[in-house]
Amino acid sequence: MNIEDIRQPFLKKFPGDFSNNPTQRSTPKVLFATIKPAGFEQPQLIAFNEALSEEIGLGKFEKKDLNFLVGSDLPDHVQTYATAYAGHQFGNWAGQLGDGRAILAGEITNAEGKKTEIQWKGAGATPYSRRADGRAVLRSSVREYLMSEAMYHFGIPTTRALSLAFTGEDVIRDIMYNGNPQYEKGAVVIRAAESFLRFGHFELLYAQQEYTLLQDLLDFTIENYFPEIVSPNHQKYKDFFENVCTRTADLMVEWFRVGFVHGVMNTDNMSILGLTIDYGPYSMMDAYQLNFTPNTTDLPGRRYAFGKQAQISQWNLWKLANALLPIIKDEKFLENTLKNFGIYFWETHDKMLCKKFGFDGMKKGDEEFLSNWQGFMQDLELDYTLFFNQLEKIMPDTDLKEHFSPVSYTVLDEEKLGRLQDFIELYQSRIHSNTISKEESLAIMKTTNPKFILRNFLLYECIEEISNGKTELLTKLTQALENPYQELFPEFSIKRPSNYDDTAGCSTLSCSS
Ligand code: AMP
Ligand code: MG
Repeated sequence: MNIEDIRQPFLKKFPGDFSNNPTQRSTPKVLFATIKPAGFEQPQLIAFNEALSEEIGLGKFEKKDLNFLVGSDLPDHVQTYATAYAGHQFGNWAGQLGDGRAILAGEITNAEGKKTEIQWKGAGATPYSRRADGRAVLRSSVREYLMSEAMYHFGIPTTRALSLAFTGEDVIRDIMYNGNPQYEKGAVVIRAAESFLRFGHFELLYAQQEYTLLQDLLDFTIENYFPEIVSPNHQKYKDFFENVCTRTADLMVEWFRVGFVHGVMNTDNMSILGLTIDYGPYSMMDAYQLNFTPNTTDLPGRRYAFGKQAQISQWNLWKLANALLPIIKDEKFLENTLKNFGIYFWETHDKMLCKKFGFDGMKKGDEEFLSNWQGFMQDLELDYTLFFNQLEKIMPDTDLKEHFSPVSYTVLDEEKLGRLQDFIELYQSRIHSNTISKEESLAIMKTTNPKFILRNFLLYECIEEISNGKTELLTKLTQALENPYQELFPEFSIKRPSNYDDTAGCSTLSCSS
């Protein structure tokens, strides 16, 4: 790998704490603290993303690069650091947070001049670890590695994953939070993104009233990551906020399209670039359920449930607006932009749903059709992904009970069957009113509805296998997630088997990473 080409322009651009002091503390007036990874002596490769490595300019992996994958034996020029950010967690101001288990190596530039930041997740404690160990376990690392790549291949903005390696060290975790901690294998993922900046970076500077630095960070962000903003002077800040709102709304629509539930949409987990970031207790949805939350910590309030994700991102954008007010200085504008977020989101969302059904666009009556459909899906406990796959395959002589029973989590009794028949009739009459051909309609469905999703039970089985030294399922899942709009492996096109209904890690997950 071209490790020698990694640079750290962020360290030159912004004020930082260069003490290399690992003590956990608050670091006012700076955006980062330099810190060395723990340095693991017995790393073991699990997976390496060659295509991504080539794409970002890091080139081929060789045996000698193994230590780099866990942040060990770094050359002097790789001056590593953790950034400081703040955030609102579960609706409350949490103050300074920061990269507690992420350490940045810096930036790599590819042959086309495209810059990518890379960082280790799980390579050791930083000043921002807040009494935690800065480590990550195999379980959470496999989940991040695979899901971020699955998102990329869906065509959804996301941070990416370059490598997955065992550290050779065991880590202690209380996965059920019940006072029964266990040793688990430690692992490190290298993540890659154009930038890992979050809403929380801006909130931190606002909270510290560091307005000059806040403006510097804004200028830097616009100049480097928002090439579409060309307006001069003060207008660029307004354009920026509008842009972040649009990117965030678009991202939410995409999450709804494939049935992704993030699980911890705190403002520190919101990328300023509109990327999916921080894969923790996320889940791809099995049964369609608007109030489904995968995160056990979120169960009491279901703040981060599937159906609430747009509303929550709007709430998070309010917090960002608040942080940017000293620079933008126009409350009315910010309020209007936030109001427009809701309008834009719903328009885009409904258009997306129409595509899932193969409609030629949004017509009169479609809105009612869609909201009825939501109730229908929940009452019949239908699998979100498989329902659309089955819808594509309906023929005039299809036996609906036989066709949809395998994709429902309940028994389709007479009453439910009646509703299914009514719904399909309504759907088919709407399809007949399409101005596009049946083939065109099907083509829209096939590119909008994934055939493969990374379900929790598949991840669970994959993690078990890797723990036992096998990687066949990992290889197969990687192939499947790289081609999500095809059905490479029919055995993955099944609803969650009932034996996994109550297995921790399959229906609900803890944050313990
Ligand atoms: P999260 O909810 O996973 O986004 O994490 C919230 C905050 O806790 C972030 O500042 C993380 O860096 C920090 N954090 C979470 N887990 C760990 C860990 N194992 N070691 C250090 N910091 C952590
Ligand atoms: Mg986080």
